Amino acid sequence: MGDVTQEDSLGSGADQTDPSWAPAVDHVWNNAPLDHLDPARGVEPDQDPALLARIDADSAIDRTDPTADPAAGRKNLVALPKAHLHLHFTGSMTVERLKQMAGAHHMHLDEELIDQQPLRVPADRRGWYRFQRLYDMARRCVTTEQDIRAIVDDAARIDAEEGSRILEIQVTPDSYAPIMGGLTPALEVMLDEARKASDRHHIAVGIIVAASRMSHPLKARTLARLAAQYAGDEPGTVVGFGLSNDERSGSTPEFAPAFRIAARAGLPLMPHGGELLGPEHIHQVIESLHPTRIGHGVRAASDPRLLRLLRAHGITLEVCPASNVGLGVFARKQDVPLRALYDSGVPIALSADDPLLFGERLEHQYQDARTIHGFSDHELAELARDSIRGSVMAGRYRKEALAGVDEWERSQ
Ligand SMILES: [Zn+2]
Repeated sequence: MGDVTQEDSLGSGADQTDPSWAPAVDHVWNNAPLDHLDPARGVEPDQDPALLARIDADSAIDRTDPTADPAAGRKNLVALPKAHLHLHFTGSMTVERLKQMAGAHHMHLDEELIDQQPLRVPADRRGWYRFQRLYDMARRCVTTEQDIRAIVDDAARIDAEEGSRILEIQVTPDSYAPIMGGLTPALEVMLDEARKASDRHHIAVGIIVAASRMSHPLKARTLARLAAQYAGDEPGTVVGFGLSNDERSGSTPEFAPAFRIAARAGLPLMPHGGELLGPEHIHQVIESLHPTRIGHGVRAASDPRLLRLLRAHGITLEVCPASNVGLGVFARKQDVPLRALYDSGVPIALSADDPLLFGERLEHQYQDARTIHGFSDHELAELARDSIRGSVMAGRYRKEALAGVDEWERSQ
């Protein structure tokens, strides 16, 4: 659902009592590039083979795809090329990576965060505040450059294992500015590792810089200016600008100036909207922020006029069914209106949002579309094409991935 910044979640007074936060406050808005990126320092993500094996097991990607049945004409969905357009940096972690970082830094993790089902609880215990508390606990374990690099590398590697050819990962760099000594080095480490991980894992990884709805709109402008400096459409560049966190917070129109700054730099725009709030919120996001895509937008399904508008504008919805159920927006997976959205002709990019908390990755969203919503292989290929066409990375990555989808459809 969204990167939750430290100040968002710690509440008043907490910053004085948390030693991991307090010393760095003065540096949060230091925008000078530091020497953290000196290549001679050679900081690498922890890629101990035993740890990577545990992380892979934890991500629960079954390369044979348990829903595949060649005899019945159901192909392996892991082999279906796709793009992953809605994945948050912190929420992309596996529990094993989180445990490794917490262990390395002698930090405590609540059992409910590492029991593999943090938000798989009865409907009345789900919801935003539980999500935010657990998310913040995970974020506070990220305390070094090596941690940041490891998270980006894991996300790219696991996504590539799921058949993802393009990953646009969403970051809120102010959450990590304190540990890197400023916003600029925090973002630069993420960009540098996105580029390296793209080469390592044969996937194109771009970064979406997202402001938080719970922060002041002026802060969003600062982030938009920062994002603009790194704008591009290649791996290791900033490929878009977003707005995340609790949809019920902040005033959407007040973020319009930040979005104008990003748009002037040529950045595509992908704010969250229409998950916790209904169609009227999506209308407001469209009118105020002129999005290229919308993070979620799933509640548009109840408004035919809005669906026509989204289709006419070619706005892709980044639909994250596991998030919808994890946050209690819909009680059960079968209640997510994926079929209605698909039938409306609005482009859909299935995404995982925050696998750490919702317990499922990209692959599982496609498997559920097949087993719960009855999508045929052709319809699943169309969903994959929607996701790829919805990507804002350079045309050659999209072209290659689309050719792969055609090949998947032709294969036996
Ligand atoms: Zn999100």
